[in-house]
Amino acid sequence: MSFSSLGLSAALLRAIAERAYTEATPIQAAAIPAVLRGGDVWASAQTGSGKTAAFALPLLQLLAGTPRERGRFVRALVLVPTRELAAQVGDAFRDYGRYLPAPPLKTLVVYGGVSINPQMIALGGGADIIVATPGRLLDLIAHHAVSLSAVSALVLDEADRLFALGFADELTRIFALLPTRRQTLFFSATFPSAVWQLAESLLREPTRIEIPMAPADAPDITQRAIEVDAPQRTQLLRNLIELHAWTRVLVFVATKYATEHVAEKLRRAGIEAAALHGELSQGARTAALAEFKASRIRVLVATDVAARGLDIAGLPVVVNYDLPRSPVDYEHRIGRTGRAGESGVAVSFISVETDAHFRLIEKRNRCNLPREQIAGFEPLHTAMPAVASTGGVKGKRKSKKDRLREAAGGSATRPVVADAPVRNEVQEYFPLTPRIPTQRRVGR
Ligand code: AMP
Repeated sequence: MSFSSLGLSAALLRAIAERAYTEATPIQAAAIPAVLRGGDVWASAQTGSGKTAAFALPLLQLLAGTPRERGRFVRALVLVPTRELAAQVGDAFRDYGRYLPAPPLKTLVVYGGVSINPQMIALGGGADIIVATPGRLLDLIAHHAVSLSAVSALVLDEADRLFALGFADELTRIFALLPTRRQTLFFSATFPSAVWQLAESLLREPTRIEIPMAPADAPDITQRAIEVDAPQRTQLLRNLIELHAWTRVLVFVATKYATEHVAEKLRRAGIEAAALHGELSQGARTAALAEFKASRIRVLVATDVAARGLDIAGLPVVVNYDLPRSPVDYEHRIGRTGRAGESGVAVSFISVETDAHFRLIEKRNRCNLPREQIAGFEPLHTAMPAVASTGGVKGKRKSKKDRLREAAGGSATRPVVADAPVRNEVQEYFPLTPRIPTQRRVGR
C-alpha cells in the first residue's frame, strides 16, 4: 500500500520519499490510520517490520497540529528497552519530522549509563517527544526534570524485551504517573503471559494488528546448528569466517567477560573484532558500532542486552556462540540478519551440554534443525547422531563427567559477569505470531 493513501501530511510524505520507501509495510498500513484516528493499538510486530515508522509518523502528525504547554511537560513518551534502540527511535522521529512546519517538534532521547546533567538541561522547557529507557526516565522524574502529567500518547516499543530485561517494576511506577486519558500504542514481537496481561490492562478498545508473515515476506534466514565442544568454538568461528569469507558477523555470547575474551582471541588471530557489552561507556559502544557498520570491524562480539534493537543494514551472519536463554531471545538474535529483503545466516553452536536447551528453543520456535559437524571440529560426544558426520576422533574419549569437571574448573578461574541474571530454564512464551520460518540447508 502506498503511503499517500494513509492520511499522512505532505511534509511527512516528503521525508518518507527521501528515504526511498516505495510502499508502506503491512504494519504501517494498518497502524498509521488507526493512530491518526486517535485510538489505541495492540500490534504484534516483528523486528525489522517497519514498526518504528508505524508509530512515529502518525504521532508526529498528531503532535504537529497542536502546541506544547509551557513547563516540564512531555506530550509523547516512547519507552524502549535499550540505549541503542532509544537512539535509533529518536533519530527516526527527527528524520521523519524534519519537514513539518515550524516550530520544530522537540525530540529528546534519554537513557542511563551517561551523565544525567546534560539530559536535565536539555529537558528545560519540556519536550514534545521523549524516547526513554525506564530507569533513567524515573531518575529524571525524581530530579523534577520532567513531568508525565501531560502525556497524550504512550508507546511501548519491544514490550516483551522490556519485561525480559526486568523492567516490570519501573514500568508500573511510570504508568502510575501517566494521565488515564491518553492514547497507548503497544508493540511487541511476542506475547508471553505477562506482556499479554499488561497489554490488556493498558489498552482500551485497541485496534489489534497481527500480520501473519507471508512466506514471500518472511526473512530469508538460513538457520544452522553446528555441534562443537565448547573449548573449540573460537577456533571453529575463525574457521567459518575464513571458509565462508564472511564480511560482517555479529557473535552473541552470554557474558561481558566472554565478549572481551572472544574478541581478543579473534584479534590475535588477525580478525578485526570488538566487544559490545553493557559495561562499556556509551562512547565506546557507539564507536564499536560505528566501526562495525562502516565494515572496519569484521566481528562484533556482543551480549543480548548490548545488541538489542540494533539495526545494522546488510548483516549477513549471526552466530550464537553461547545459546540464548529463551526462544524469544533466539528469535531476536537471528532477526538481526535477513532484514529488508536480504538473506542471512544464523549459526548456533551446540554442545552435548546445551543440546537439550536448544531443543526447547527449537520446540518453542517450531523448528527442528539438523545437527551439523564440521571436519576437524567434531565433538567428543554428541547428544544425537549428526546429519553430516565426518568421522569421530580417535583415541580415548573423556567421559561426560570428566568434561563437565574440566569445564567447571576452567570457568572458576574466570571473572564471569552476566548482563542480566542467568535463568536456567527456558521461559514459557505464548507467541501471538508465527515464528520466523526455518530453512534447512546443511553443509554450506
Ligand atoms: P524497524 O522495524 O522500525 O526497526 O525498521 C526496520 C528497517 O526497515 C529500518 O531500517 C527502516 O528504515 C526500514 N523501513 C521502515 N519502513 C520501511 C518501508 N516502508 N520500506 C522500506 N524500508 C522501511
